[in-house]
Amino acid sequence: MSYGNILEQDIQYLKGVGPVRAKLLQKELEVSTLEDLLYTFPHRYLDRSTVHRIADLEEDMPMVQIKGQILSFEKVTTGPHKRIAALFSDGTGVVEIVWFRSLKFVENTYKVHVPYLLFGKPTRFGNHLSFAHPEIEPLEKANVQKSPLQAIYHTTDAMKRAGITSKTIASLVENVFAALRHDVPETLTPALINSHHLMNLQQALHTIHFPQTSDALPAARRRVKFEELFYLQLDILRYAQQRKERTPGFVFQKVGTMFNRFFHEQLPFDLTEAQKRVIREIRQDMRFGQQMNRLLQGDVGSGKTMVALMCCLLAVDNGFQACIMAPTEILAEQHLQTITRQLGTLPVKVALLTGNVTGKKRREILQETADGSIQILVGTHALIEPTVQFLNLGLAIIDEQHRFGVKQRAKLWQKNVKAPHVLVMTATPIPRTLAMTVYGDLDVSVIDQLPPGRKPVQTLHYFETDTARLYQGLRIELQRGRQAYVVYPLIEESEKSDLQSIEEGYATFTDAFPDFKVGMVHGRMKPALKDSVMASFVNKEIDILISTTVIEVGVNVPNASVMVIEDADRFGLAQLHQLRGRVGRGAEQSYCILVTRRKLSDNTSRRMDIMVESTDGFYIAEEDMKLRGPGDLEGTQQSGIPFRLRLANVITDSVLMSEAREAAANILEADPHLEHENHRIIAQQLQKTMREKENFSDIS
Ligand code: ADP
Ligand code: MG
Repeated sequence: MSYGNILEQDIQYLKGVGPVRAKLLQKELEVSTLEDLLYTFPHRYLDRSTVHRIADLEEDMPMVQIKGQILSFEKVTTGPHKRIAALFSDGTGVVEIVWFRSLKFVENTYKVHVPYLLFGKPTRFGNHLSFAHPEIEPLEKANVQKSPLQAIYHTTDAMKRAGITSKTIASLVENVFAALRHDVPETLTPALINSHHLMNLQQALHTIHFPQTSDALPAARRRVKFEELFYLQLDILRYAQQRKERTPGFVFQKVGTMFNRFFHEQLPFDLTEAQKRVIREIRQDMRFGQQMNRLLQGDVGSGKTMVALMCCLLAVDNGFQACIMAPTEILAEQHLQTITRQLGTLPVKVALLTGNVTGKKRREILQETADGSIQILVGTHALIEPTVQFLNLGLAIIDEQHRFGVKQRAKLWQKNVKAPHVLVMTATPIPRTLAMTVYGDLDVSVIDQLPPGRKPVQTLHYFETDTARLYQGLRIELQRGRQAYVVYPLIEESEKSDLQSIEEGYATFTDAFPDFKVGMVHGRMKPALKDSVMASFVNKEIDILISTTVIEVGVNVPNASVMVIEDADRFGLAQLHQLRGRVGRGAEQSYCILVTRRKLSDNTSRRMDIMVESTDGFYIAEEDMKLRGPGDLEGTQQSGIPFRLRLANVITDSVLMSEAREAAANILEADPHLEHENHRIIAQQLQKTMREKENFSDIS
């Protein structure tokens, strides 16, 4: 029998298991094979290298280890208070041991005046410190204990009732090692093990279950994490590769007149290096007859719109139409204006289609979209309605992707005989490593550079009592002719109290700044009114705009230099970052003032500090992930990751993840179908870990 088969052997036949325990292990821990058990890792370790003197014990100590003898027993073997108590001493003092269950076992097992090693949690009981149901072992056996660090495994109530303790699991794991004759088959190639300085699998697994010292643990865990992340990334990259082989796409062969003329005649500024690189990446993608599926990440203000426009021109030059879909009417209109302005006199026909475009105008636009005379159609989700027919849609760009559902995006695919190229743009910072995984089969381009001359927004944290200081600063900026946003949280657009606070805010600022024009916009206003207030702000007829987060996405008013965020602690970091991105869009210094109560939790204080100290969206997103803690992380992991990671964590192990991804990419590049003799282990292992076919991040 080969080793592979041994690992897949039913746990039932392992020494010490049998059908009843096997069922329980399967049900409670999802362990059904020897391998499952081998990969059931302890969640913590107890240090058993220290033996305490009883005289030194205190009741608030955690689990401790003592060495001594039982002096006497006291047995109450009948009635409701059945129990056995024993006095235990090491010569420096006396403690009590009590058992309430398994009394027969206790009677038959433990003897007076035999040296024992006892392990448990001391609690005060009358005059004595007392140990209830401690672990007890004859000292001579305990001395040969292999590992001073004792692994603690997760056990459920059902398991405990059936007598399966953490210790039982440890001994079963030992039996697995014995069954394998301490020769666990390797899952990585020697080349990978050498080049990444990894422990071999046998040693790593054994160390994790039975560490000799805590020093050995990190290297052992690193090995197992690497393996997990390597196969995760290999799987994702393989999938992306297969998908490319499968999905044909339009070929945008040339860079033509419109792109070139735009570049030489119209471009109002030099592109940043990052913009150039990203345009190159996208262009490469669209040239080879495979459908592009690319995520474009770029912090707020990094100039994604220009990239979008230039990609549209590539489509136009190749005889295709392009569309840009924005999440709101305001944003769609702003895109249209920007694009029209930037195209200048170039003969490219651009039009807008939103819910506001109705009647004859709408019919006209639909007609011209269908006959191909409109070359770039900008709009909201109105674009995906079935009435919108393109002659030859070659590229669909989706701005601020998180506002569009997967189903909505899917409809775009059906707008032509072949799926158009898809570019999803987002400023929502996703930690790189998470993007690598959750969007792992999308290609990712990152604009990691802001246009030159931008001064980072200066962020200040004020308490609500700092009004005087706030108004003073605000006034200075307004007198310079700048504009300001004041944002109130509105978690639920229907929450009355929130609406009240923004209305009070409007009144307060109107009073405090009688010489300036104050406007208000929130989600409960009629769209037409909302749009007209926004338009007044854009046209500088309003100086201070009191608003909710409706302004969060994309609005571009370079003259606005102050962003005041009231109750800033009620916003998430990503949202604060988005809001802050509304200012700092011109060349002058801008400010973001976070206003909160004085009393804040540590976590909230830390969040404010992060905003004050950094303007890097990726850093903020990563810190956010860390602050949100393991619960949230698990949620993210489960929602985004194709298979369970037992040790690795996509956020905290980001460095190792990058290393693993690169290793996986190198192997696939050299041997795309894993046919090489040297890669047989990898091909086999990948087969095993193959993901369920239901794909989470498929944007089709
Ligand atoms: P976002 O990535 O947030 O969508 P925008 O596309 O709205 O950013 O760009 C923000 C501002 O920066 C716009 O006013 C745009 O004209 C300007 N901009 C974009 N690229 C450059 C550049 N290379 N140099 C100078 N300004 C630029
Ligand atoms: Mg934008």
